[in-house]
Amino acid sequence: MSAKVVIITGASSGMGAATAKLLAQSGFKVMMAARREDRLQQLRDEIIRAGGEANYKVTDVTSRADVEALADVTIQTYGQIDIIINNAGIMPLSFFKSLKVEEWEKMIDVNIKGVLYGMAAVYKHMEERNEGHIINFSSIAGHVTFPSSSVYSATKHAVRVLTEGMRIELGARQNIRTTLISPGSVATELSGTITDTSIYPALEKMGNTEWTAIDPIDVAKIVLFAIQQPANVAINELIVRPTSQS
Ligand code: NDP
Repeated sequence: MSAKVVIITGASSGMGAATAKLLAQSGFKVMMAARREDRLQQLRDEIIRAGGEANYKVTDVTSRADVEALADVTIQTYGQIDIIINNAGIMPLSFFKSLKVEEWEKMIDVNIKGVLYGMAAVYKHMEERNEGHIINFSSIAGHVTFPSSSVYSATKHAVRVLTEGMRIELGARQNIRTTLISPGSVATELSGTITDTSIYPALEKMGNTEWTAIDPIDVAKIVLFAIQQPANVAINELIVRPTSQS
């Protein structure tokens, strides 16, 4: 059987980068996407030096044209798309009273529209082949809401609902698997997008006293586990968090 082809958005850091590396080590052909080209280039070189197969396309997931071009380039390069991992996301948490309206819009664009564009870009190809696997990144925040998370949680709830909708429509008719990954705290660059300084004390307290974030590789292993199931077995949702996270 030829190697499977996987697109990973948000592959320039954190869980996307860890997943790209692990999947390449495991024999997948990996097409990586994000905006920071230097990071993507570095990761591609590292994967190739280690004997894996990877390439990248600079992509802004808020641009439908960019995401369509990503799918096209993947097919041109590797002949097919077996899996898409819609992982790119941002988390500029803020209290509602801070009225960070532009950040709300950005979160909706990246976290919801970006995922929708990813699903749309591969759908026809997967439908024609009558197989495929769509993996979307939600969060624990897609199950609960906490002070400062209302808009972020709304986007992650949306991803959960959209993935379930796709499961119902695509699983039965088109043999396309869907998997929702809902991580808890993972040590990545994600909190770097937070600009509402009034939430810093609460974040600091959480970071110092409540639990230690898990490593991105732990989540990458969960993604690999979902992908490696037989084609007739769909792992539809996985929640993974630090054992001590409340
Ligand atoms: P990182 O900040 O390390 O990674 C986020 C990735 O998304 C980067 O590669 C970034 O690349 C990419 N990205 C952001 N905006 C865009 C855009 N407009 N177009 C293309 N790519 C974009 O964070 P994580 O690894 O933690 O995040 C991965 C996913 O996991 C996100 O969806 C996040 O919401 C989710 N998550 C994270 C948790 C955590 O504790 N870390 C917990 C639960 C869920 P670039 O800037 O180069 O474009």
